[in-house]
Amino acid sequence: MGSGRRRGWVFVLSSPSGGGKTTVITHLLRRLEDLVHSVSLTTRAPRTGESDGREYHFVSVEEFQRLRRSGKLLEWAKVHGAYYGTPSVPLKRALAQGKDVVLTIDVQGARQIRRSLGEAAVLVFLEPPSMAHLRQRLQARRTESAQDIRHRMAAAVHEMACVAWYDYRVVNDRLQEAVNQLAAIVLAQRCRVLRDK
Ligand code: ADP
Ligand code: 5GP
Repeated sequence: MGSGRRRGWVFVLSSPSGGGKTTVITHLLRRLEDLVHSVSLTTRAPRTGESDGREYHFVSVEEFQRLRRSGKLLEWAKVHGAYYGTPSVPLKRALAQGKDVVLTIDVQGARQIRRSLGEAAVLVFLEPPSMAHLRQRLQARRTESAQDIRHRMAAAVHEMACVAWYDYRVVNDRLQEAVNQLAAIVLAQRCRVLRDK
C-alpha cells in the first residue's frame, strides 16, 4: 500500500561552467513529470537569448543583498564575480506539492545544501569527458570572452575535484546517455524506501 502523497526530493546538479547543466536539464524536464527546475537569482547580466524568470531572475546587487539578509535564500555564493542564490519559497512550495526540484548550482552551493538538507538532497556531478572537451564547448557556446573562458577553465580544476563528496557522477559525453543516466538517478530515488531514523 502506498502512503499517500510522497515527499519531494531535492536534486543538485553541478558541473564546471560549460559542463552541460543547462542542456541536460532542458532534456530531463521534457522527459520526466513532476520535476521542476529552481530558478536562481543572479546579479550577472542576461546572455543573448536568456529571459528574466526563465533561466534566472536577474537582480541588482542591492536587491540580492536585501533578499539574502532577510533570509529568503536557501543558499548563495559568489561565482565568477557575480552573486547567485536559490530562493527558498518556490522550492518549499514545489516540495509541498510532492514535486521533485532540481537545482543547477555551483560546488559552494551544493555544500550548503548538503549541510542544511543532509541526505534529503541528492548531489549529482556532471563531468565533461575531458578538460579539452570543456574548453572546446565553452568556446563553441560563444557567450564568454577569451579571458572569461580562461577564468572558468582555471576554476574548473578545483570544481572537478569536488566530485569526491557528491553522491553520483555522470559523464556528459553523448548527450542522450547523460540524460538517460540522470533520469535513472531521479527514478531510482523516487523508489527509495524511507525509514524513520
Ligand atoms: P552549463 O549550463 O553547464 O554552463 P551548457 O549547457 O551551456 O553548460 O553547455 C555548454 C556548451 O556545450 C553548449 O554550447 C552546449 O550546447 C554544449 N554541450 C552540452 N552538452 C554537450 C554534449 N553532450 N555534447 C556536445 N556539446 C554539448
Ligand atoms: P552561469 O552564469 O554560467 O549560468 O552560471 C555560473 C555558475 O553559477 C554555474 O556553476 C552555476 O551552476 C552557478 N549557479 C547558478 N545558480 C546558482 C545558485 O543559485 N547558487 C549557486 N551557489 N550557484 C549557482
